[in-house]
Amino acid sequence: MRVRLKEGVRVREDTFGGICYVPHRDDFFAAVEDVFKVLKGLRPDWSVADPAFEPTYTALAKLGICETSDPLIREEAYSGPAFLGEFLEIPTVSEPLVLNCFCTAHCPLKCIYCHADDLMQQFRPEETLDQLDNVISTARTINSLVVVITGGDPLTRPERATRLIDGLAGGRALVLDTSGVGDLEALLPTLKKHCVHVRVSLDAISPTNSKLRPINKDYEPNRQFSGDYAQETIRRCVSEGLSTTVQTVISAFNENITELRDLRDWLISAGVRHWVLHITVKGGSARRIENRVAKQKRGRHVLPSEKAYEMLQSLIRETKERELPLDIRCTDTDTTPNSVLLVASNGSLYTEGYAHHGKVLLYDSSEGRPDTLRKLWHYVDRFGHARRYLNWNPKFNGSVSLDKACYSVPLPPKPPRATENIVESEAKYRISDYASLDRKLQSLGFFPSPTILQRDEYYDTNDKTLESLDYVVRLRRTGAEVVCAIKGPRVWTPRQEYSRIELEFSVLSNESVKAELRKRDLHVTWFFEKRRTSYRNPTSGVSVELDEVPQIGTFIEIEGVLQDSREIASKLGPALGHQERKNYREIFVEFMKAQGVDESEIMGASFETQ
Ligand code: SF4
Repeated sequence: MRVRLKEGVRVREDTFGGICYVPHRDDFFAAVEDVFKVLKGLRPDWSVADPAFEPTYTALAKLGICETSDPLIREEAYSGPAFLGEFLEIPTVSEPLVLNCFCTAHCPLKCIYCHADDLMQQFRPEETLDQLDNVISTARTINSLVVVITGGDPLTRPERATRLIDGLAGGRALVLDTSGVGDLEALLPTLKKHCVHVRVSLDAISPTNSKLRPINKDYEPNRQFSGDYAQETIRRCVSEGLSTTVQTVISAFNENITELRDLRDWLISAGVRHWVLHITVKGGSARRIENRVAKQKRGRHVLPSEKAYEMLQSLIRETKERELPLDIRCTDTDTTPNSVLLVASNGSLYTEGYAHHGKVLLYDSSEGRPDTLRKLWHYVDRFGHARRYLNWNPKFNGSVSLDKACYSVPLPPKPPRATENIVESEAKYRISDYASLDRKLQSLGFFPSPTILQRDEYYDTNDKTLESLDYVVRLRRTGAEVVCAIKGPRVWTPRQEYSRIELEFSVLSNESVKAELRKRDLHVTWFFEKRRTSYRNPTSGVSVELDEVPQIGTFIEIEGVLQDSREIASKLGPALGHQERKNYREIFVEFMKAQGVDESEIMGASFETQ
């Protein structure tokens, strides 16, 4: 297989892994660390894929993130949440994904649910071309992956749109929002030059569209139906090879499965592959209508019913089952206030409020204080921002937890992490029947080494500081060899195994290491001897140690990576006795105290004194 990054795809590292933006789909994907490493390694030029990663590239090619040849994996429609790998929760992004820049405050429509009008009205009378320089300056200061050129409608002011697109093109992907009403032809060369993704708004293929999105006759006195313009613009963009998405606002007016099916089928026939459904939110004009209907107890609501979610779910399900070539994303921005970033057509920065009806001014470009641009950044909800753009909607996905709904990206098995070499996991059991345990171990390929005598000395301060923090400093003598171990606090699993960080190294001289310990006021506070028989299987990373400890009997310790140790323990099954949580010192002290010995007299366990 050969592989390369799909043209225009952008990746950005983040604390959880990273984000990938696919411009021809206008889609973001959050990737866990391991998947993101693969994304980061993709190059724009063809290279031969590591065979172990072929399933990984296959999964990514289906989303249009990379391209493959030998074999060619075709991109597919995808309508699920945008999480690659296993996420337990929605991540918070460090920097914005999307910045919306108003190109103009003029709009040829008067949509009944418009919630941009409050950001346009005030700037409309004094709109000048020069203000766009401030829009560009503000946008450059915010490190978003995507800039959306919006409004009002950029097609009503193509000269402004051209200036804005030229000023912002470069590192970031550009998207243009339009109702389709205006002068597309004047803007086409610029859109094509900078590979701008065009999003056209269309709510229905029937006359319902004009009820929701009537023409403002001050701008377009001649034509009647906004839907005609939208359909024409969609066809023109597709025929010009521009990546095109259609956006539909779901309201009480088009909350109708037949209406939406008709629209879906028309989009597919027109060559559209990406469809975004927005649920009308109670903001702007929609809030005014809802308040009026509630107050006067008459008129028509604009917000859709709760049943709309069920209907949209079944529409998405049906589209997937019929394998129709259309991505459907569905956003519900009502529950993510303060998560959208809007640059007004004069360059000031706003967010949509929560404890505040309407837009919240975050930065006023007219004050001449560019240093204050991020001063109110704390008001921006970066978690909500990620949720808004990662296609996670609790009303759609509420019954499935995120980890089950993520897009699966197969990865080759990982080599052990560096830290696995310093983390010891251990389970300890009493031995009830040595002969049967020995047989069972040998049947699993674990064979014994000759039994050796070990003497362990534990070091601590006089006031037992290390013990109180569950730290261990131990010297172990086996014959002439001395090994020093430093162990951190134990972390217990529900199955009574523990893991801890452990560093173990041989020392050249017993005396010199003891001198070093003395210099740090560390003295022997406990010692014990044991007769150890080590069982090893050359194909397993698990160590099995059989320890005979003076007076308290024989125990088995199973050490290794937790999952592997558990597997061996479960195979040994009934040959193991009672599982012990205590360490040898604790077991020994408890035993001696039961014999009537005072704890202060117990200094260690030795075979000589038994
Ligand atoms: S197209 Fe409609 S929703 Fe968009 S700004 Fe114009 S009136 Fe508002």
